[in-house]
Amino acid sequence: MLIAKVIVDIPVSRTNRPFDYLIPAWLEPLLAVGGRVIVPFGPRKVQGYVVSITEEANDSDSKMLREIEQVLDDVPPLTLELIQLAEWMSTRYLCPHTMAIAAMLPAVLKGKTEKWYSLVDEPDRELLTQSGFLTYLFNQGSMKQTEVEKQFPDEGKAIPGYIRQGIVESEYTVKDRITRKKVAHVALSLGEMQAMELMDSLPARSARMKEVIAFLLDKTEPVPMKDLLMELGLTRSTLTSMEKKNWITLTQKEVYRDPYADRTFAMPTKHILTAEQEKCLKAMEKAIKAEEYQAFLLHGVTGSGKTEIYMEVIEQTLAKDREAIFLVPEISLTPQMVERIKGRFGDQVAVTHSALSQGERYDEWRKILRGQVKVVVGARSAVFAPFRNLGLIIIDEEHEGSYKQEETPRYHARDVAIWRAQQNQAVLLMGSATPALETYALATRGRYQLLTMKERVNNRPLPRVQVVDMREEMRQQNRSMFSRDLHNMIEDRLKKQEQIVLFLNRRGFSTFVMCRSCGFTLACPHCDISLTYHRTNHTARCHYCGYTIVQPKNCPECQSDHIRFFGTGTQKVEEELSKLFPGVRVIRMDVDTTSKKGAHEALLTKFRTGQGDILLGTQMIAKGLDFPKVTLVGVIAADTSLYLPDFRAAEKTFQLLTQVGGRAGRHELTGDVVIQTYTPEHYSITHATNHDYEAFYYDEMVLRKQNGYPPFFRLVLITFAHEDVPMVIKAAEQFADYLRPRLADSTILLGPVTSPISRIKDRFRFQLMLKYRDEPKIFDLLAQVSMHFDSWLKQNKVILSIDLDPQMLL
Ligand code: ADP
Ligand code: ZN
Ligand code: ZN
Repeated sequence: MLIAKVIVDIPVSRTNRPFDYLIPAWLEPLLAVGGRVIVPFGPRKVQGYVVSITEEANDSDSKMLREIEQVLDDVPPLTLELIQLAEWMSTRYLCPHTMAIAAMLPAVLKGKTEKWYSLVDEPDRELLTQSGFLTYLFNQGSMKQTEVEKQFPDEGKAIPGYIRQGIVESEYTVKDRITRKKVAHVALSLGEMQAMELMDSLPARSARMKEVIAFLLDKTEPVPMKDLLMELGLTRSTLTSMEKKNWITLTQKEVYRDPYADRTFAMPTKHILTAEQEKCLKAMEKAIKAEEYQAFLLHGVTGSGKTEIYMEVIEQTLAKDREAIFLVPEISLTPQMVERIKGRFGDQVAVTHSALSQGERYDEWRKILRGQVKVVVGARSAVFAPFRNLGLIIIDEEHEGSYKQEETPRYHARDVAIWRAQQNQAVLLMGSATPALETYALATRGRYQLLTMKERVNNRPLPRVQVVDMREEMRQQNRSMFSRDLHNMIEDRLKKQEQIVLFLNRRGFSTFVMCRSCGFTLACPHCDISLTYHRTNHTARCHYCGYTIVQPKNCPECQSDHIRFFGTGTQKVEEELSKLFPGVRVIRMDVDTTSKKGAHEALLTKFRTGQGDILLGTQMIAKGLDFPKVTLVGVIAADTSLYLPDFRAAEKTFQLLTQVGGRAGRHELTGDVVIQTYTPEHYSITHATNHDYEAFYYDEMVLRKQNGYPPFFRLVLITFAHEDVPMVIKAAEQFADYLRPRLADSTILLGPVTSPISRIKDRFRFQLMLKYRDEPKIFDLLAQVSMHFDSWLKQNKVILSIDLDPQMLL
């Protein structure tokens, strides 16, 4: 007897293990590992995923087992590798197994769907006479599952066999009709000789029909009806009457909704590689040829030609008949990028993208599942592409925070990529101008092979960076948000009709306290992060350990009374610009102006085509954009990201300043970068000015070591949320009390404290933070503590989330 182990789709810890089910003989043709099934679970019927199939020796046990009721797909949507990956994720990220699986599937497979059957191939006559179901399909085309159950209840068990034999196929349609799209196709139903004879015999008034026959005569495949009508200038009625005479057949054929279908992509010029590019490729060639796991970190300055290298390694991977995943941050998945890749690899590429409809994404995903493409380009979740012969994973801008999913399962695409690359003996290539500290540290220790490119392509200089001390501007009575230098340079570019990018680096609630006279900021003496200002009681508080002080009236450093919380919005900058430079055309990009679908792209196009002088925006304009006419990039206040209550604040500032600077002077015109700041001596600013990543890395590593942060320590953030403060505190304290005696001596437990965002959706939030270095059983321990409190938390409706290696500490 065959037994399937099934993970049921109920995301609670009690069900977080496979359950055994019998496989009835009639379902055997369709049952495979990775398949979705319907199984009885208690009084309910639930969806599940088959994780393994075994032969059960012990018959007495299996008598107790219940049977699988249905197999949902003709082809399992998950590969064996992905099933194993989900299991690993479930342990590594402490999430229910089924949620790890759900993260891998396109949304369409998770929504409300209807199953339809249709014929693939004409069944032979004998079968037809036996089966009412097949006869129905033969005459009507397709039939809904629910109808089949009603009209042909006895035939249900034969269907898996029909599917396996290639007679019938099933598909899902979603309520909003976003699954497969079908298009009418025309084919000749006559043999060649018959067709020729017919053409001779047709009278002159049937000239149109003759044209159709002639057109179809040399086609080996059905032709889209639309094309044929266009080509010959016909109406449908001609075809309909020809179909009645059985000369042609009209069929509905599936086409993929290719979002890029109406565009042709020019083959991009293949450059002669620079010496640095050659050297990097050489280093990777061996691993690619040998098909063995190796991880590389490509550290190349902005404009050094990293993307060009990605293309080359993809090409080498395809030459080995293996497949490639190319991950990019959502924000750099611009049409420019897609164009570059589609231009080079054409139809072999699938693109997944949040701007695509669910149906479009489903289509792209199925191209991968069916092996019709060899490259997938996409954001984070593309790391789960169901390839079967994976040879390469590229992570562009590997330091980007968006590679971490901020909801369950809280996975990092980099971790998943490493797992898959090892599993497949594939090459992993991570690229960045500003690698994450954790990544660079591992590279210096040999875990990844470090490849470096220090020069821009074509000897283009890196932009000149000028730092303006805003304290000095204060002293000179300039209270404007623009320094005199930046003001003059904007004026100059406007006169020359060159373009400007202004960057305001701000997060909504970043309310740190700063002295505008001397640049002093309030920081926690224990955690070395900025204190956050609380308006309600005028206190400043540390969000890691809870340290709190009353907001001082005067600066502790210089006694000035210009000490207060800090922050300017893009809207205010825009107003100021129109006041200072009448008639200036500002394109503002922030969460407000880009919330509508497509707005982001439209604004950029506007700027690119010269319908704006200044592009003003937040983080979202820092990366991936390439505008030939931009010759000035201004950072209005570098300090806003420097004093976020996050131990990565300096790193993020360095990354942002480097990326922003990288936008200038990428083309013929050279560029200037102006950084305004109240702390010009801060190492993240001085090193960004000198384009010196390594110097920044060493300075930052010293501080990380001193204060016990990654990569020296690893973090776990445990957050509790509930409508009542006492309840949420109680939960956090119980958790802490349970953990404390079980932790290694070197592990530090911080909190409970209120979370930086203390309330979301009317739920108060408290957190614990673990800093550990040597805690080999950390996953077990966390699993154990969550299990221990599982029912208590549920009873009291406290929401728990555990984030390993958190990225967002705000
Ligand atoms: P990065 O990804 O490192 O920022 P890109 O790969 O986008 O750099 O390259 C920057 C620019 O230089 C692009 O316009 C690209 O087409 C061009 N480029 C890249 N490699 C070469 C080369 N070997 N010769 C000439 N131009 C190149
Ligand atoms: Zn001061
Ligand atoms: Zn602190």
